Amino acid sequence: MTSEPMQVDCKEAAKRLNELIDGELTPEVEETIEHHLKDCARCMAVFEFEEAFCRFVKIKAKRQTAPEGLKERILKELGLSGNSCNE
Ligand SMILES: [Zn+2]
Repeated sequence: MTSEPMQVDCKEAAKRLNELIDGELTPEVEETIEHHLKDCARCMAVFEFEEAFCRFVKIKAKRQTAPEGLKERILKELGLSGNSCNE
């Protein structure tokens, strides 16, 4: 029945990035998001940033949360406005 590949837009992909990084998605959804990332340089950049950031936070601040606004500030400097990919 579901032979057609699922499509996601940038908004949907952005929403799923954290779940993807945490390995919380089903294999089908994961594949769909990864497919989008390959086609979408902007989402890929956000994903790579999110992944690096999560790793950084986990390593550097095991018992602390990241400073409020730090992520947003870096995203802004990179020219990536977080969740509003296409607007
Ligand atoms: Zn995208």
